[in-house]
Amino acid sequence: MSTDPTAIRLDVAENLLTIDWSDGHVSTYDGAYLRWVCPCAKCRGHAPGEVEPPAWDDVKEVRARGASGVGTYALGLEFTDGHDSGIYSFDWLREVCPADEDGLDERGRPV
Ligand SMILES: [Zn+2]
Repeated sequence: MSTDPTAIRLDVAENLLTIDWSDGHVSTYDGAYLRWVCPCAKCRGHAPGEVEPPAWDDVKEVRARGASGVGTYALGLEFTDGHDSGIYSFDWLREVCPADEDGLDERGRPV
């Protein structure tokens, strides 16, 4: 079963991405959280352990400054630290929804 986004909003002033899903769930993502979990090869490597992923303390002040569609399946995000190589597929975004993660607030900031 796949869940599709029905609405996507990036509030740059709030540094918050909100996605409404077709099953009624609503996900909220802090810009810094999205930078922290960036799935690109520069941040994650091509294989586990190949590169050190960003640490929260290194990215916690980063803000999302732009979002654009990648095909119909993903979002590309641009961050205030200049990073823009992450492709955030909707399936993956739903998987990393902070509401489902322990130790994170509703926007994905560690508590
Ligand atoms: Zn990245």
